[in-house]
Order: sequence, then structure tokens, then C-alpha cells
Amino acid sequence: MDETPKPKSNFVRDIIDEHLRNGRFTKVHTRFPPEPNGYLHIGHAKSIHLNFGLARDYKGLCNLRMDDTNPETEDMEYANAIKEDVRWLGFDWEDRDYYASDYYGKLYEWAVVLVKKGVAYVCDLSVEQVREYRGTVTKAGKDSPFRNRSVEENLDLFARMRAGEFPDGSKTLRAKIDMANPNMLLRDPLMYRIRREHHYRTGDAWCIYPTYDWAHGQSDSIEGVTHSICTLEFEVHRPLYDWFLDQLGVHHPQQIEFARLNLSHTVLSKRRLLELVEGGLVGGWDDPRMPTISGFRRRGFTPEAIANFADIIGVAKDNSIVDMPLLEMCVRENLNKTAPRVMAVLRPLKVVITNYPESKVEEFDAVNNPEDESAGTRKVPFSREIWLERDDFMENPPSKFYRLSPGREIRLRYAYFIKCEEVVKNAAGNVVELRCTYDPATRGGDTPPDGRKVKATLHWVSAGQAIDAEVRLYGTLFTVRDPSSVAEGVDWKATLNPKSLEVVKSAKLEPSLAGAVPESRWQFERLGYFCADRRDFKPGALVFNRTVTLRDEWARLISSGRENK
Ligand code: ATP
Ligand code: MG
Repeated sequence: MDETPKPKSNFVRDIIDEHLRNGRFTKVHTRFPPEPNGYLHIGHAKSIHLNFGLARDYKGLCNLRMDDTNPETEDMEYANAIKEDVRWLGFDWEDRDYYASDYYGKLYEWAVVLVKKGVAYVCDLSVEQVREYRGTVTKAGKDSPFRNRSVEENLDLFARMRAGEFPDGSKTLRAKIDMANPNMLLRDPLMYRIRREHHYRTGDAWCIYPTYDWAHGQSDSIEGVTHSICTLEFEVHRPLYDWFLDQLGVHHPQQIEFARLNLSHTVLSKRRLLELVEGGLVGGWDDPRMPTISGFRRRGFTPEAIANFADIIGVAKDNSIVDMPLLEMCVRENLNKTAPRVMAVLRPLKVVITNYPESKVEEFDAVNNPEDESAGTRKVPFSREIWLERDDFMENPPSKFYRLSPGREIRLRYAYFIKCEEVVKNAAGNVVELRCTYDPATRGGDTPPDGRKVKATLHWVSAGQAIDAEVRLYGTLFTVRDPSSVAEGVDWKATLNPKSLEVVKSAKLEPSLAGAVPESRWQFERLGYFCADRRDFKPGALVFNRTVTLRDEWARLISSGRENK
């Protein structure tokens, strides 16, 4: 029996099914075409899952293509990071590692074809003049005075543009379409600009560069792409892309547009993310607060969780904002099944168990994952001095506080019942130590023979065997749901969350965490899921990132009106 779940249908699949039925295409060939001008973000993950997912489900192919037509902003660092991220998400482009810059020669030849057909011309108008001649949405544009140059003159000028005879910006090659077209993109769009810029791959071989609009559709055609899937803002470009392909009479992919992903409390725009990186407002592209794939990876998110998220949000035609808690839910769901449980104390308060022998250390069996029996158990040491979470003690507890307080008894997970007998304070009046007693009849955390119950079970770490760690806790990057929608003149960075990072320097971990390696993921009982930082975690300097809290904290925060603080 085939157990593979059937992919959810969506309008893109409907279009593809129709093409396969009516013979427009006999196979499915997609591509993921990032521009290497920044790191990939979760929006790109949606596109990656869509494109590679279609290829997988229809037994077709998906290419990886760097859409690198802009020498000023592109870089090999970005291209390499993109590849690493796509691979980490679990996709493989095999040998189809393509670059639009490899097509510069072909694109040039095809531009010459259009010049020869009399549908492209060299124009001497300046950038400002081109804009002025273009007209407006309500007003037709004006023909360029250079529009009717002869084919011979255009061929000569275009060849000399390429040969470097003219200064930057002095000439362009434009498609000759229609200066009165209601679609402004068809008003003689630019195909080439003169720009003496070093390109990260082609170096100084070219001084003219194709526009994105001229390069994109043709690159898809060269690669034999059948379905060129892009975000909605390219819908208005489609008539232009169709026009170029029809003029050339070459393989014609079908463009299909879908709504881009927007995620709450963050921005998904490489330009803006770059601004945060360059302004030092975050620690880099892979800062665990960033909505980048590499940021989420460092934070501890898993490829499985992102795949599930992409599946749940699906693809549609209308733009909307997806709430961050949905993504976090996917992460939690995945880590619940896979992350071993351990005990860690973030803000330690010393507890001395006065009736426990001084030098005794005993070990208790602790369950590694109640969701996965095969994960087994481990030994956790226990001794006279332990660390408890400072928050788990209150000297004067309100009626709803059930954890430790003077005179009260609680259960230490896996160990014993302990009772708080004395509170030790320093000169400033702060609690620095608790003195407790334990009941040997509760060994293993069992209910004692007298059947007495406690209202709380707390996590703890034995002080003598504890290992020190730094733990980084994260809040949302922005304090508002939609940071991009700011009024004219207002800085979109004004709503950055000043409390998005909290560093806890002296957390105490149970000794089994000595076996942690970078990127290993754990559940710290009662505290959340944590991931050993892939950059900063080193033997002797353990650094963990909190990936997500155990429960969805959002509902509570939103209902109490604290969301924006
Ligand atoms: P940004 O606006 O963040 O700079 P972009 O569209 O310029 O993104 P590209 O590198 O051109 O970035 O994007 C590569 C592919 O990813 C494109 O096919 C694009 O449509 C898709 N993509 C980009 N952002 C999103 C998003 N938020 N949701 C879904 N797909 C996206
Ligand atoms: Mg783009």
C-alpha cells in the first residue's frame, strides 16, 4: 500500500494538471531563482518548498538558479549561503547549479535578434528623460526621438555599447513595444544599461548588463523550465515576459504567480534585513532573531518544522500575514517528538538539604523522552546542594503560587520531596540560599507511605556536578505585528524590540549536557526547547539558544494586553 500522503491540492497544481492533460507540457520542470544579494528568509522557504516540492511530486526537476544580473549588490558569500540553506532545508538541485550570469552571451545574442527584427533600439535618453517620456498610469508616454533608428545603426551602436565605447548611463537598449500601452512595463522597457561594475562571477568581461526583466524569462526558457513560479508582484510583468519569448520564438514557460509569505513581528525583505545587518542592529544574517533560514537554523528550528509550516500555509493568490505562533507551533510539535529532556536551571538559587549526608551522591534514572520510549533513560546525580530556579521560590506567595515557599513541601523531579525550613538572606535583604530537609521515604519522587501530596514538581540541578552555560533567550524582533506598514516619513526600524535578546550568563545544567554538540536540540524541562549555538558553543564555553517556549505564550500575552511591551 502506498503510504505517502497525497500532496494538498492548490491552484498551482490545478494549472499543472491541466497542462499535463491538454499536452501543453509533458513534464514538470521548475526552478528556484534567488538573487545572491542577501541570505534567504522564511518567505524564500515557501518558494523553495513549492518549487522543489512540485518537482518531487510530479517526478520532474527543479533547478537552482542565481538570478545574478545586478553587479552592485551580488556576492559569492550570498550565493554560497543560499546553497547551504537550500541543502539544509532538504533539497537537491543535483548538477543543475545555474547562474543567469552564464547566459549573458546568449542574452546578448538574443538582443541582437530583436534589434535585427526591428523591435529593439539603442536610445540616448538619460534615466530622467526616460522616466519623463514614460508618461503616467493615466497619461500615455511619448516616443523616444531615437525610436526610429535604422536596424544598421542600432546594430552598430549596440555592438559599440558592448565594446565599451560609451560612458556609463549614456545609452540603453530598449524593446520597441508601445509607449501608450496601459501597462507601463510595456512602454519600451530597458533591456541593457551601460555600467562599468565588477561582477562577482563575470568580473570585468561586461560593461553592459541585462535588466532583470530581460534576463528572467529568457533564463527560464534556456533552462527548459515549464512552470515559472513567482510572487504576485510579477503578474504585471507577465505580458512583457510573454512578449520577449514570443518575439524570439523560443521555448515558452508558463508563469504562475502566488502570494508571498508575510510573517508577523518581522520583515521579509532582503533590503531591510541587510539594513539591520549593516546597521549592527542584529548580530548578522544568522542572528537567531532574524527570519532568515540561517537565523532560524541557529535558533534551533528544524527543516521538518519548516516543511510542515510550508505545508500548512499552502499557496494562494491573496496576500496576508501569517502569525509567528503558527511557525513556532510547528517547531514545538517537531521538537516534542525528537528533543531529549534534560534539567537546567537558568537563574539558580542555592538549596542546601540539611539532613542529607555531606559527601553522598546518588543517581536517579530520568526519562529521556516520554514521547519516544526508545530514547531510554539516563542517570542524574543528586547531592546535598542543588540549584533551583529562583522563580520557583517566593517568600510571601500569593494564593495561586503552589511552588516552594517557607514551610512548604514540593517534589524534586525524579528525586525526593523537600521542605523549605529556612531562608538565608544577604545584607541587602536578598534571598541567597534556602535550607531544606528531604524525606528519604520519597526516593525517586514517589508519594510517601502516608500518602501526602505536594502541589508542585520542580526541576533542579545538583550543584557539585552542574556545568555552567550561557543561555540566550529571544523575543520577537519587532514589537508590532506588521512592522512594514509605517506611515510615510516614519522609520520602519522604530518598532524594533529592545528586549529581543536576553543573555543569561550563569545557567546550571545537569552533567549529561557535557555530551552536547553544536546544533544539538534539547528540551530543558519546564523551560522550553534549546539548541546548542552552532557558532559560539565550544567545549568549556557552552552557549544555548532558546528555540521556543514549551507552550504558546502568545495567547496569554495578547489577552493581557502585554504583547507590545
Ligand atoms: P526580497 O523582496 O526579500 O528581497 P526577492 O523577491 O527580491 O525577495 P529573490 O531572491 O528574487 O528575492 O527571490 C527568489 C524567489 O523567492 C523568487 O521566486 C521570489 O518570488 C521568492 N520569494 C521571495 N520572497 C518571498 C516571500 N516572501 N514569499 C514567497 N516567495 C518569496
Ligand atoms: Mg527579487
